Amino acid sequence: KVRTRFAPSPTGYMHIGNLRTALYEYLVAKKDPDGVFILRIEDTDQGRLIEGATDIIYNTLAQCKLFHDEGPDVGGNYGSYVQSERMKSGIYKEYAEKLIDLGGAHYCFCQEEDIQSQRELAEARGESFIFNDPCKNISVEDARARIANGESYVVRQNIPTSGTTSFDDEVYGTITVENSTLDEAVLLKSDGYPTYNFANIIDDHMMEITHVIRGNEYLSSTPKYNLVYKAFGWDIPTYIHCPPVMKDEHHKLSKRNGDASFQDLVAKGYLPEAIINYIALLGWSPETEQEIYTLDELKQAFNVKRIGTSGAIFDIDKLTWMNGMYLRNMDIDTYYDIAKEHITNGVKGNYDHKEIAKILQQRANTLAEIDEMVDFFDTYNSFDSELYTNKKMKSNPEVALPSLKAARDLLASLPNWEETTIHDEMMALVEKLGIKNGQLLYPVRVAITGKQFTPGGAIEISYILGKDETLRRLDLAIQ
Ligand code: GLU
Repeated sequence: KVRTRFAPSPTGYMHIGNLRTALYEYLVAKKDPDGVFILRIEDTDQGRLIEGATDIIYNTLAQCKLFHDEGPDVGGNYGSYVQSERMKSGIYKEYAEKLIDLGGAHYCFCQEEDIQSQRELAEARGESFIFNDPCKNISVEDARARIANGESYVVRQNIPTSGTTSFDDEVYGTITVENSTLDEAVLLKSDGYPTYNFANIIDDHMMEITHVIRGNEYLSSTPKYNLVYKAFGWDIPTYIHCPPVMKDEHHKLSKRNGDASFQDLVAKGYLPEAIINYIALLGWSPETEQEIYTLDELKQAFNVKRIGTSGAIFDIDKLTWMNGMYLRNMDIDTYYDIAKEHITNGVKGNYDHKEIAKILQQRANTLAEIDEMVDFFDTYNSFDSELYTNKKMKSNPEVALPSLKAARDLLASLPNWEETTIHDEMMALVEKLGIKNGQLLYPVRVAITGKQFTPGGAIEISYILGKDETLRRLDLAIQ
């Protein structure tokens, strides 16, 4: 039975790379009909915690429909699912002591400042610093006596000084490192908190995680974790390390640099479904050309073997295009529901918002751009006659004027203001004047909106504006 876990640290907004990890964990679990997707909150780095960040994690997963089967809010048989709570039950300390007894770790009484200054000295000499801990030579009995006396300590991993450690990663293949390059990392801090290095191992083991999926920044530390698994005699999980999500060729997308988070994208009007669809393809390539996937389709199509090893560039234009596809493929009622707020922001007059939604649906790629796209319904400013110049439409101010006059007369004479009537009569006028469609419709659109680009064209917009307002605007343009 596959068990995967998403193990975010509650340190702020949801970074796109983290969300992609969550998605892949979810997909790997759901590929197995009995698979279980777990949420574990890794909050042992108390200095980095941000209030409200755990709620952001819950909300993000819910918005993206990546529902977890076990977690702090939904329960499960492997709880607690919050590391700070697990710590209170003393498990990390117990396991740290067990590991010491098994020879996989030792107590260390060195001062962090001393190690730091050794590190700085080495770096100043241009050498890489591997801490060789003198405390390894203290016997366990002596160390425990010092601790009983109140001395402050940390627990450090024991790393063999020679030889290599290897493991197989599903994405990156066999990884081998020289043990001499691995540092004897702190497993338990002096405040009793475990480090990520230790807690992830204990928790993954206790929660019976079968597949560990995470960013490739952990690739080089994984041999170190495996030494701990081996010391305990535990099964090593299957590892799936994912390529980084990049901002450009050389820089990773990062929360710390203020790059877009899931929340920023939603605020800009991107749909969670579109974001999920887009990030599924960041690093994973499907077997077919298909690009638009529902979550269910992703469950079918996803295959770990097709995760690539090189960084995938986050392309906002591609996401915008995909978001537009999602918006256009919705039924109009759903669209109206989510676009309503933005239409109300932009349109102040007494117009049919649902009709406006119809023209927007064909044009807007994000929800946030709606506000500005429809502002011409609200205020109609006088504008530059140069707007009439458009090569493709074969229009310019001179061509536009007679067209506007003819359109004004025609529209004023219409017996009713049905969209089909406006359409048929305008087309007949094009025919009669012997001009191109665009030479009539484009100037009218510019005249009644004051813009070159609008959702909908002259006919749809005139229809929504109504006869009086359309004629009023045409008159302003013609005078
Ligand atoms: N808390 C770690 C992070 O947010 C989890 C890494 C892992 O999945 O093991 O990066």
